Amino acid sequence: MNRNHITELETIFGQELVLTEPEDMIAYSYDASHAENSPEAVVFATTTQQVSELMKFAYREHIAVTPRGQGSGLSGGSVPLAGGIVLTMDKMQSIIEFDPANRLITVEAGMTTSDIDPVVAEENLFYPPDPGSVTFSTIGGNIAENAGGLRGLKYGVTKDYVKMMKVVLPRGEIVTLGNKCVKHVAGFNMEGIFVGSEGMLGIMTEVTLALLPIPEHHESALAIFDTLESAAQSVSDIIAAGVTPSTMEFIDNITINAIQNFQDCGLPLDAEAVLLIETDGEKHSAILEMAKVETAVRKNNVREFSRAESAKERDLLFSGRRVALNALANVKPNLILEDATVPRSRLPEMVSGIVKIAAEHDLQVGIFGHAGDGNLHPTFLIDMQDADEMARTEKAVEELFQLAIDLEGTISGEHGIGVEKKPFLKNQIGAEGIRLLQDIKKTFDPENLLNPGKMFDMD
Ligand SMILES: Cc1cc2nc3c(=O)[nH]c(=O)nc-3n(C[C@H](O)[C@H](O)[C@H](O)COP(=O)(O)OP(=O)(O)OC[C@H]3O[C@@H](n4cnc5c(N)ncnc54)[C@H](O)[C@@H]3O)c2cc1C
Repeated sequence: MNRNHITELETIFGQELVLTEPEDMIAYSYDASHAENSPEAVVFATTTQQVSELMKFAYREHIAVTPRGQGSGLSGGSVPLAGGIVLTMDKMQSIIEFDPANRLITVEAGMTTSDIDPVVAEENLFYPPDPGSVTFSTIGGNIAENAGGLRGLKYGVTKDYVKMMKVVLPRGEIVTLGNKCVKHVAGFNMEGIFVGSEGMLGIMTEVTLALLPIPEHHESALAIFDTLESAAQSVSDIIAAGVTPSTMEFIDNITINAIQNFQDCGLPLDAEAVLLIETDGEKHSAILEMAKVETAVRKNNVREFSRAESAKERDLLFSGRRVALNALANVKPNLILEDATVPRSRLPEMVSGIVKIAAEHDLQVGIFGHAGDGNLHPTFLIDMQDADEMARTEKAVEELFQLAIDLEGTISGEHGIGVEKKPFLKNQIGAEGIRLLQDIKKTFDPENLLNPGKMFDMD
């Protein structure tokens, strides 16, 4: 980029919202994955119009643009692989309209996910998707990755709550997609195509999200197991018993120990695995469902099943799960976190398969995740400076993905493809699937300037 380009960016955004100094680029060169590349400029959008002008400029001058929320992505989505401009959305944080009668809220896409609940709670509503990163990720980033969360089992994931959006297309046109109605079939499901689009098809600037009434009551419990298999089998059996807990999180022994070293959450250091389970709804049904959960885990030789007796105890249990990733990051210099997902009935096979793969490659793996969704986060604890360990990890990851596919699962349940899983996407969706994605990308972005290099290569 030359001086004229920078002057033009300053005209669009104002001088104070354009960064070009090399030391300022560092913070925008990476996300929470291992991908890294420096942009040449960073701009901070405050209006849809600015985003539109930026894309018209980028198309005219043939400069790559990478949208960025808070950079908490775990697959490299907001890393500017082609350099160019990073478009940061996190200054767009306003609430545009809260519509309790229709249980909807319209916010700017840079809003932090957890900032929605305090606003809508005043009308006894909540926004269900709650990724572990809920206190720092943005709604735009959540939609672009179709983020899941701890409540996904009962309440689904981000895609289930996206009703409408304002989007700037790669050539700068501004379009409004979707509708406020409960039902809407006028044309293709265009807002749907932006869910999981990883910032490659357009930039969301405003989004309308569905809300639900806050459940009357929660029952929370901790189930402690002496084998991984009995914990995994319990997940299948609980679902088979007709119960849909709002949360069912799995944590293995390595992760339990990492959490307890990080902060005391009352988890038993000698357990092979625990399940954190929550049921919610009307009081009598939440209690009844938890009783069915207890019956199912007792059939699987649970060592101990204890219910949280207070909100404080519940918060303590769940805080353990929320810090799992940070805690594992303390164990070894680096970690490689995956999010392979399988149909829930295949969970026991997946868990034992992960343990076997790690053992065969002499690697330490911590396993935790949204087990109720069949979504595990096997996390290899490694030292990336150790070339031999890195080579073994790469092989293990490849085998892990193949195992997920063989078990009718997917290489990504919620973190997306980005840079990290790009080499494996073809194994999941085949050459024809890749061709279809390429055709869609070409229709939206014929010059391949919006977040190039992610998910798949263009021919
Ligand atoms: C500790 C930790 C816990 C996590 N827990 C979970 C979890 O439980 N569930 C889960 O699903 N993920 C989780 N994540 C991953 C991550 O937080 C999510 O993927 C999140 O949705 C990313 O949001 P972000 O604002 O940081 O987006 P970024 O990382 O900045 O960007 C992600 C992608 O979205 C695109 N993008 C961002 N904003 C826009 C926009 N306005 N328009 C178009 N494209 C855009 C970017 O180009 C990029 O491709 C976790 C991450 C961490 C670090």
